[in-house]
Amino acid sequence: MGRKGAIPAIATAVVLAVVCIATGYSGWINSYGDSAWTVLGWNFLAILAGAGAAVFGMVGFHLLTRTTYASAEELFPSLSHADFLRALKEEPRPVCVCTRCLIHIPAQFSTGGCPRCNSSVEYLEIHTDEDASMAAAAVS
Ligand SMILES: [Zn+2]
Repeated sequence: MGRKGAIPAIATAVVLAVVCIATGYSGWINSYGDSAWTVLGWNFLAILAGAGAAVFGMVGFHLLTRTTYASAEELFPSLSHADFLRALKEEPRPVCVCTRCLIHIPAQFSTGGCPRCNSSVEYLEIHTDEDASMAAAAVS
């Protein structure tokens, strides 16, 4: 079950919640004059359905919010040499680049080191054209 499993789980939760409300309501109207057994039966169903709804709801919510993290290589694919040089010139600055992996990351997402090779030596923050030419020199 991946993220798709969340939909049937939440759908089940919604159905059970409706059953819970319906049976709870039946229990409530039947509590006037009807036998105690009927009232108990309806309320028992309502509690069961409510519990089921809670469980399925939580499972569905969990599946929905679970994030599968891609590997750093997938998140930050290496650029070709030419694309890397172009990114140095054209990416909005500040931008962080790793001259070993040939990747670039917007500086606001940067953690101070390359997310792929963890290098902080080959990892440069580009603010100015001088920074950019330094990085370009490092890869040529
Ligand atoms: Zn790197």
